[in-house]
Amino acid sequence: MQQFIDKYDFTGKKAIVRVDFNVPLNEKFEITDDTRIRRAMPTLKKILAGGGSVIIMSHLGRPKKVDPTFSLKHIVDHVSECLGVPVQFAPDCQKAAAQAAALKPGEALLLENLRFYAEEEGKPRGLKDDASDEEKKAAKAAVKASQKEFVKTLASYADCYVNDAFGTAHRAHASTALIADYFPNDKMFGYLMEGEIAAIDNVLKHAERPLTAIIGGSKVSSKLAVLKNLVGKVDNLIIGGGMGYTFIKAKGGKIGLSLHEDELIPDALEILATAKEKGVNVYLSIETVAGQKFDNDTPQRIFKTNDIADDWEGMDAAPVTLESWKKVILASKTILWNGPVGVFELPNFAKGTLQIAEDLAEATRNGAYTLVGGGDSVAAVTQMGYADKVSYVSTGGGAMLEAIEGKELPGVAAIRG
Ligand code: AMP
Repeated sequence: MQQFIDKYDFTGKKAIVRVDFNVPLNEKFEITDDTRIRRAMPTLKKILAGGGSVIIMSHLGRPKKVDPTFSLKHIVDHVSECLGVPVQFAPDCQKAAAQAAALKPGEALLLENLRFYAEEEGKPRGLKDDASDEEKKAAKAAVKASQKEFVKTLASYADCYVNDAFGTAHRAHASTALIADYFPNDKMFGYLMEGEIAAIDNVLKHAERPLTAIIGGSKVSSKLAVLKNLVGKVDNLIIGGGMGYTFIKAKGGKIGLSLHEDELIPDALEILATAKEKGVNVYLSIETVAGQKFDNDTPQRIFKTNDIADDWEGMDAAPVTLESWKKVILASKTILWNGPVGVFELPNFAKGTLQIAEDLAEATRNGAYTLVGGGDSVAAVTQMGYADKVSYVSTGGGAMLEAIEGKELPGVAAIRG
């Protein structure tokens, strides 16, 4: 049975807490952005203040073996500073029983990177490229078998399990899902997970209408499932960025050298047809800022988006388009935004995306509920200083996308189930 962090009695309990401390480090192993660490603090502090102790577990990067570059020891001091208590370190997440047993209420222990073990992800490693299907199958079975012991060892350290790692909630890994089975009556979400789930529910389950989704980014193929799910739920769908040109081409427009996927034209047409059938308004780009090369300093010219000259490439939303989208945004009560509406990493083509961030802040000020997710969208909101001027900024790119595809996330199901 699922428990709730606000109601659970942590007195004298050891909590094993999955967090997402997968923070960026520079070449001196200094943390360059500690957002993920700070976002987990309310949960960790709540447990310590409630008379419990915490065993913190996370992954860092994508090591394929024990690799000091990806050691969580680099972040121990910073975690201690944020938490306000000295954090002990267990250099092997599978050999931490004695340290965990010795923890007293109010104390904290950080386990070494879970992904030093293949069992965390449950995927075989070191398979030769020419491995036969038989060999692949045997290796998979072997890691699945040893994964059981791996999970059991982690679970043996604690009395309760808290999952606060939204960024990996779409993965059915040992620490994000499987471990929950060992705590049938003592498993719960941390505050960050609770917040992320509530934010997505605010949009997908009980949105105040009109509900608008702004979906941008490079390719239709990577957000096809998102578009197909949302087209049945929203009132307005704004499609921008690189993926928009496939839709423009599908409608017979001339898009010059703009990014597009011909093989997805049938899907684009299907989405447009579903929208029409359901009375959903689709807003594509009207005018585009184009460049001649994929370069920040390339000359710019504005075209009608359905009539771009052959040797020009659409790279950002032009003012006429932004003005039309802004009207839709400001008339909405709930807004979901994922993906840039232009080539955000080139500052001369970032204006459209920054304008969307500004529109969302204005809509929020006017009382709308606004949820922002995805690397570039979050960066745009942060760059404009609006991170606290929208209703919620999601910490999980991939997890949020899968949630808005309508999938149940394994990390969520493991706690609720
Ligand atoms: P995604 O990861 O799918 O959200 O896509 C983000 C990427 O989309 C960024 O790297 C942007 O540069 C890219 N993008 C957005 N608009 C365009 C465009 N008009 N042409 C090419 N790439 C774009």
